[in-house]
Amino acid sequence: MDNLFELADAYGPARIIHIHNPAADLRAIVVVDNVACGPAVGGIRMAPDVSVEECFRLARAMTFKNAAAGLPHGGGKSVIFGDPKIAADRKEQMIRAFADAIRDTLDYIPGPDMGTDELCMGWIKDEIGRAVGLPAAVGGIPLDEIGATGFGLAACVDVARKFVGLELKGARVAVQGFGAVGKHAARFLAEKGALLVAASDSAGTLADPGGLDVGELMAWKAQGRALRDFSRGQKLPADAIIDIACDVWIPAARPDVLRADNVGRLNTKLVVQGANIPCTPEAERTMHERGIVSVPDFIANAGGVICASIEYRGGTQRAAFDYIDERIRANTRLVLERSRKSGEVPRQAALALAGERLRAAMQTRRWRAA
Ligand code: NAD
Repeated sequence: MDNLFELADAYGPARIIHIHNPAADLRAIVVVDNVACGPAVGGIRMAPDVSVEECFRLARAMTFKNAAAGLPHGGGKSVIFGDPKIAADRKEQMIRAFADAIRDTLDYIPGPDMGTDELCMGWIKDEIGRAVGLPAAVGGIPLDEIGATGFGLAACVDVARKFVGLELKGARVAVQGFGAVGKHAARFLAEKGALLVAASDSAGTLADPGGLDVGELMAWKAQGRALRDFSRGQKLPADAIIDIACDVWIPAARPDVLRADNVGRLNTKLVVQGANIPCTPEAERTMHERGIVSVPDFIANAGGVICASIEYRGGTQRAAFDYIDERIRANTRLVLERSRKSGEVPRQAALALAGERLRAAMQTRRWRAA
């Protein structure tokens, strides 16, 4: 990068820190983006190859997600370069060395992301006394186990459905990615009377227009089995989940799964984004033009970070669910009302909402723009 400040804009990043500890084989980057709302919360991604720019974009996404959710936290992110599947003792050494390196970066609170988990957060808490997404044994709320993000997605669907004239009872739901996010979204929606008509994992799609049993599928996946090996239902390729006739389509797997070249295949009324950046901007525009309401990721999938924030403040699981329910419902309504009024795609409306909150927080700071 020739210009070290080429990522800088009115919001941040406040700091980009490069960490190198050869003795621990540690190379890492921390981006503290914007801390107007409070110390930055954002995950640690462990991956062989992530650019500074990507780390910054992930940190910025956290700035907007946390501001939109009304949390007392700014946005940050970090990357540890390496294979997350290395031997446990080496990984522990690397993570502890990373924690030591951010000891004095008090406005960054790390959490889990791809390649790190609650045990890693336990090591960090042990080193420096601050981390979120902790093991229950040291005061954590097990957010993936309780389905915090899936719970928030179900609340989002329950508000967004009114914008497309849909009843939840009997609504047909398709979920791409039956993992921590997707399976719990399906579970909470089924509890509200919706029907899971298709679910997919990386190996394939399982479909049944008459409805799949969410509990049975969760038990099946818990045994480490693929959905396509389930005894009942229609077995289709993984990509076929896009064509499923449904009312609600939930991406909960990978980025960029809906693009200009495949978004036309969607046969649904509502898309609620569980995964991070599952749709390209072109796909979001096309959905908007076709009258498919799409709730952006940083509004719909904030349940996990809300839970982490409540954990950090010593709150209970019940408090986390209450906060998720209230915030995600309110934000979904605000964003979709704004989008309907202005005609802009929901993501633009959501960015405007988060930007207003962020700028209001920035006005309370000592170093503020006029
Ligand atoms: P996970 O690893 O538990 O589950 C991912 C699932 O997606 C797995 O079942 C996997 O088989 C499936 N998958 C992978 N590739 C696929 C493909 N091509 N087609 C269909 N399925 C495929 O991960 P997760 O924690 O559920 O996260 C899913 C997404 O949600 C990620 O984008 C993540 O960043 C985002 N997210 C997670 C949380 C959280 O609380 N865990 C919060 C916000 C956002």
